[in-house]
Amino acid sequence: MQGQGIGEHPLIQHDISRRGLLKFCSAMVSMLALPAGVVHVFAEQLNKALSRRPSVIWLSFQECTGCTESFTRSHAPTIESLIFDYISLDYHHTLQAAAGEAAEAARLEAMERHFGHYLLVVDGSIPVADEGIYSTIAGTTNLQMLQECVAGAAAVFAVGSCAAFGGLPAASPNPTGASGVADLMESGQIETKPLINLPGCPPIPIAISSVLAHYLVFEQFPALDASRRPVSFYGRTVHERCSRYHYYEEQKFAEQFDDEGARQGWCLYKLGCKGPITHNACAVYKWNEGTSFPIE
Ligand code: SF4
Repeated sequence: MQGQGIGEHPLIQHDISRRGLLKFCSAMVSMLALPAGVVHVFAEQLNKALSRRPSVIWLSFQECTGCTESFTRSHAPTIESLIFDYISLDYHHTLQAAAGEAAEAARLEAMERHFGHYLLVVDGSIPVADEGIYSTIAGTTNLQMLQECVAGAAAVFAVGSCAAFGGLPAASPNPTGASGVADLMESGQIETKPLINLPGCPPIPIAISSVLAHYLVFEQFPALDASRRPVSFYGRTVHERCSRYHYYEEQKFAEQFDDEGARQGWCLYKLGCKGPITHNACAVYKWNEGTSFPIE
């Protein structure tokens, strides 16, 4: 492998130790279910990719900002946030300093300058009913903006259940015609590009940064399932790794939210828990620096 050594890694120059970098890359490699032997190559390639300051355009449509909140409040100020310091985040409603016309100008400039190379992150569903009038930004419907931005994107990251599958806005009767990115690609309403889905409400922050790092290193997504989700994070159900699973096996179920079983922390299956059919790694990585997840 050619290129900058790990010692000159931009993250190391940001006061992250070489040991810390390798620890981070080891964790990434492990979470992505890659062979342990690729850690040094992963670190070196990540270095090269970040040195180029890859452009990221982040579009937020019918959403609650939960995906961004989850990501930015995850493990700061650890290395995930530093990765974002080295990415050129050229457009993001919540995080960018610019507003109004200046923000839109920044998006258009980034799209032109990095055409064919920028990474497009989408959170929120896209309303397509009545020609998309139910959500507009700077006079442009979400659908039009997505069509424009997808055209020059190298790859698309659909972050959160709304961008992946329509989410809550698509609940029946779905008055806005809320759709996920994949649906729009399949129906030909937007151009088809490499797409990864990271569902969750919100998704696990480390899943976002891991697949982003994977794409920067290998210029492709990790292994995906039939729903375009990374197998390493979505290959198993929440139920399989739930902290209440032993109660499920013992057939100890809470029957009411305030009964003795609930107070004892028994399994929530009889109260409608969807853990057995939900594929995600919530029970492993959790939120708020690994503090908890909703079932806990
Ligand atoms: S609480 Fe839900 S996810 Fe956890 S063991 Fe019970 S059914 Fe499974």
